[in-house]
Amino acid sequence: MIKELSTRMVLVVDLVDKVKGKLLNKLIKNINLIYKDNPGHCPNCHCDEVIGVEIMGAKDGVLLWECEACEEMFLKYTADKTEIELQNAKYCWTNSKDWGYVPRSKFN
Ligand SMILES: [Zn+2]
Repeated sequence: MIKELSTRMVLVVDLVDKVKGKLLNKLIKNINLIYKDNPGHCPNCHCDEVIGVEIMGAKDGVLLWECEACEEMFLKYTADKTEIELQNAKYCWTNSKDWGYVPRSKFN
């Protein structure tokens, strides 16, 4: 069996206190690190619990990577592209109960 990469799905408002101004600066410390694929190890704390973060209202699929140990976030796309996606998604307030999202853990 292929182990599925774990991801979590969030709203922009779950990630930042205020949606004003540039959002990327609030999430990403090092915008020069870009990982097309899951880096596998956290470049910050070197643990291997890096998950994909999908943003509701942004493009489908993983938009950011997050280390589950130190909670540092990393880019998958360029800073400019990611900022555009975050701006598009920031007013998405969808209640997950309304659209039947099933957490990965409920599959099998
Ligand atoms: Zn880490």
